[in-house]
Amino acid sequence: MQHFSADSLILRAVDRGDNDKLLTVLTADYGRFYAILKGAHSMRRREAAASEPFTWSNVEYYEKGGVKWIKSANAIETFPGFRYDMEKLFLAAYFCEVAAELSDERQPAGEILPLTLNALHMLHMGKGENRQIKGAFEVRAACIGGFTPELHVCRHCHGTVSGNGYLDVMNGAFVCAGCLQKKEALCPLPEVDELGGRTVLCPLSHGSATALRYVTEAEPKRLFSFRITDQREQEEFSRAAECYLLHHLERGFQSLENLKKLEAMTKKK
Ligand SMILES: [Zn+2]
Repeated sequence: MQHFSADSLILRAVDRGDNDKLLTVLTADYGRFYAILKGAHSMRRREAAASEPFTWSNVEYYEKGGVKWIKSANAIETFPGFRYDMEKLFLAAYFCEVAAELSDERQPAGEILPLTLNALHMLHMGKGENRQIKGAFEVRAACIGGFTPELHVCRHCHGTVSGNGYLDVMNGAFVCAGCLQKKEALCPLPEVDELGGRTVLCPLSHGSATALRYVTEAEPKRLFSFRITDQREQEEFSRAAECYLLHHLERGFQSLENLKKLEAMTKKK
């Protein structure tokens, strides 16, 4: 039987039988893996809390019969506020789903793990707009996945990004308004920002393009230290960031669907 301990982010917990839980965890050295927590529902409160989703815990594991089991767990950082705020809860679940997608067993998670932890921390502290935290997380997650966009110059004329233009999602590049006009005159493009279409273009003004560039380049610790004050620029940034990540990962996320439903409900009220 092999024992080891690792600081672990609990990404997901599902019931397994009456009294056990199957946890998906993310660790820096061992990557993402599954582990079984026996007697989850009859545990002491302290240990039960340490195995809740979105908790950063020190966990002792043992391996038996090719399965990892949890021997003990101690919470290092918990985010209790998420339980009382649906938007933050869905966002936290989304960050964890994306982290699971961008990690794997026995692959060190030295980048996606700290990014996810920082995003959860920012969300919990309530510093800054949720949408901005989400957007920064999405773009940076895409970069970690190997899809860093080039946003310094226009893809076609190589002019510096200064005025309005578009994020060319599939090519991970910026296209200035002038070049797009010229291109369209020669050959009309399909509808802008059509999910699933071959050409996906998200409109960007100078502010939203600058913010996108910032989150691809910022030091990990400074990633969330920016502010978009203009409403339109903020919307452009959010749309472009989400569209960029989803297109490159080529999938949707249940937690994001839930978040959209919640947004639609709050808008109706
Ligand atoms: Zn151009």
